[in-house]
Amino acid sequence: MKQNKLYFIFSKLHISIKKKKNPKGWFLFNSQPNYIYVEDFQKRRAETIVLEKLKWKKARRRSRRRPGPACAVTAIREGPLSKDLKPYSRECFYEVFEEEIHQVIVENQLFKPGERVAIGASGGKDSTVLAYVLSELNRRHNYGLDLFLLSVDEGITGYRDDSLETVKRNEIQYGLPLKIVSYKDLYGWTMDEIVKMIGLKNNCTFCGVFRRQALDRGAALLKVDKVATGHNADDIAETVLLNILRGDIARLSRCTSIVTGEDGPIPRCKPFKYTYEKEIVMYAYFKRLDYFSTECIYSPNAYRGFAREFIKDLERIRPRAILDIIQSGEDFRISTFTKMPEQGTCERCGYISSQKWCKACVLLEGLNRGLPKLGIGRSRGPNNDRKKGTKETNGAKSIESKQCGTLDF
Ligand code: SF4
Repeated sequence: MKQNKLYFIFSKLHISIKKKKNPKGWFLFNSQPNYIYVEDFQKRRAETIVLEKLKWKKARRRSRRRPGPACAVTAIREGPLSKDLKPYSRECFYEVFEEEIHQVIVENQLFKPGERVAIGASGGKDSTVLAYVLSELNRRHNYGLDLFLLSVDEGITGYRDDSLETVKRNEIQYGLPLKIVSYKDLYGWTMDEIVKMIGLKNNCTFCGVFRRQALDRGAALLKVDKVATGHNADDIAETVLLNILRGDIARLSRCTSIVTGEDGPIPRCKPFKYTYEKEIVMYAYFKRLDYFSTECIYSPNAYRGFAREFIKDLERIRPRAILDIIQSGEDFRISTFTKMPEQGTCERCGYISSQKWCKACVLLEGLNRGLPKLGIGRSRGPNNDRKKGTKETNGAKSIESKQCGTLDF
């Protein structure tokens, strides 16, 4: 009797489970022994249904989720996007990134075997990645280069002193000798003292002019043949735009060159000319490189900031816009009627200058005489007796150097 009753319930449940369209429930039923107490069976069935429901929900969620893009090279894992918007796995991204820089170096003959090369190192992401990648490529492709790190200490407490600590760690991490030149030693002023005197207006003009000369002087002390800087594609596009906005034809004509200052004592090159800032950030992040990412405490440069924002907006819509701006800058042809500055040397310090005194000497004279505005803009200074219509082009490469944010010369 008992058996019959159980069997009856058994079959009823069987039907009801089937009707509920829960396939797993049906399997549970079949997997159980035929004779089962009702309470036990109902309890187990309820538990199983809950568990199976959860599993089923998870599986459905998983199947709804779109599968990540496969790597363009090895078709395995999803990873960062490259500039051609193809997805790469991390390993392939490193390979493509490094290979692209190697191609730029080879195609533009940036280095010759046996050369001594100083890497402008600020501790920021660009110069840190440059130091890392150049030392890797130098080893891998036998460039035969003697690499050095060259840093400038502007004397900005709470900013440069901290970033220099990063460079000192990089010196040990990459095994590259480091040379630091300071504004205090070269000019007798730190940026902290200059800002105290002139305030936060035009401080970057002083800093940019002094830095350019300081880098050249440091390079001369290291007796290097070339200086490599971490300017990336975004920086160059920004500079093209700024030079157009300011109508600075002289700088516009040379700001896109991958090697500059060939007529000067020590040429400079930009191996990251075609590398997006985004790629450099991703490379530094994935490789866990040790870099410093705080902005300068005296960084007010709103004008450059607007140009940067504009380029970032364009990049969001069309990433190639950055390379197209560089291409446009390269294709500019300067009219033969445009008067270009003539290069000479500074009568005071011997540095290249198109004026009687180089910009650094004019600015320094102003500071020492307590007239800091002497060399700013079209002020009355020692260069006024020179012919009109020529623009200062010597040390005043402030527009060509990255002035704010993560500073990389
Ligand atoms: Fe110098 Fe750059 Fe700071 Fe301006 S923002 S003071 S250029 S380090």
